[in-house]
Amino acid sequence: MSIGSNRVVICVDLDYFYAQSEEVRNPSIKGKPVVVCVFSGRTEISGAVSTSNYVARRLGVRSGMPIALAKKTLARYPDAVFLPMDTDYYDSISSNVMDILRSKSPAFEQSSIDEAYLDVSNETEGDFSRAYELGKKIRAEILEREKLTCSVGIGPNKLVSKMAADSKKPDGLTLVVPGEVQPFLNKLEIGKLFGIGPKTVEKLHELGIGTVVQLAQADIRVLSEHFGEKLGPQLRDAAMGVDDNPVQERGVEQFSRIVTLKRDSNIFDFQDVLEPLAADLSKKLLEYNMLAGSIGIIAITAELKTKTRTRKIENSTDSKAEIVHVASSLFESFFADGNSSHGDLMVRRIGVRVSNLAKPTKDKKEPSLVDFL
Ligand SMILES: [Mg+2]
Repeated sequence: MSIGSNRVVICVDLDYFYAQSEEVRNPSIKGKPVVVCVFSGRTEISGAVSTSNYVARRLGVRSGMPIALAKKTLARYPDAVFLPMDTDYYDSISSNVMDILRSKSPAFEQSSIDEAYLDVSNETEGDFSRAYELGKKIRAEILEREKLTCSVGIGPNKLVSKMAADSKKPDGLTLVVPGEVQPFLNKLEIGKLFGIGPKTVEKLHELGIGTVVQLAQADIRVLSEHFGEKLGPQLRDAAMGVDDNPVQERGVEQFSRIVTLKRDSNIFDFQDVLEPLAADLSKKLLEYNMLAGSIGIIAITAELKTKTRTRKIENSTDSKAEIVHVASSLFESFFADGNSSHGDLMVRRIGVRVSNLAKPTKDKKEPSLVDFL
């Protein structure tokens, strides 16, 4: 099956990410309905469901549902767990997973906090059976290191890999080789195609297009007339699995590293614990040719609450020593405040984050030959 000219793209989508991250943090809630909420704060239950685990979904909970309705839906399940979003914690897990993925191919693109693409054409020499083995390896590695399951799709481009990943969730691994693209798509409902929402489905129906097969064969002029010169052809491309977009890294905004302490603590040797984290972050910044304008800390308490502090620094940096210095000072004041307010502040995991990233300005770099001319 080795064809050198094949493009091979892998899409990795972490399963019910926020809720699964909560299960990882607190395994005792696994098997119970878990609902992660965006509380708007007006009343105790105003707000909406962000994401829920599959137990809650089977009982009728949906993303975007008002929290009050989700509570009503789960009224007969007293063990249901409602939790507030903890973005810092999810970010730190996401960044660990993305590092695993980034190590598999230089052609990497993170498309959201829980989803990324890899172009592995070179790594697999265009061989889809090798890509399948790589997909298995990626799944095993994410499970082993972060205790998370994911759904992986493999195809000849981003579009097909994404729809392949979506076709089997959670914990799926789906391969769609080039010759199988059209049969694979034909089996889908038209609304399952990438980028086709309920409104578009309705409009297509009015044009007599109700299936993927019909859309793939639709007259491009008719589609352009009704959906515009840009979206019209895109709709047909979606139905045919055509996508030439490269896998390309977008701008990064921050890097973070987090570790679990050997035991819950309110005092630790900052230098020892922070140095490896800072070393990683400094390496990361160098790799990306970025400097950090802010350095922050993440502390996950024994009660599993996430606290953060951030400091803007005068001169952007990629220096390990400076990251350790600023993070230590933030932790010192964090513990000083915490211990004075409730005496027994204990921390389980600690992390360091660099953000406010920018490329170095020219005068900070080594002078280049051009500068002497
Ligand atoms: Mg996901």
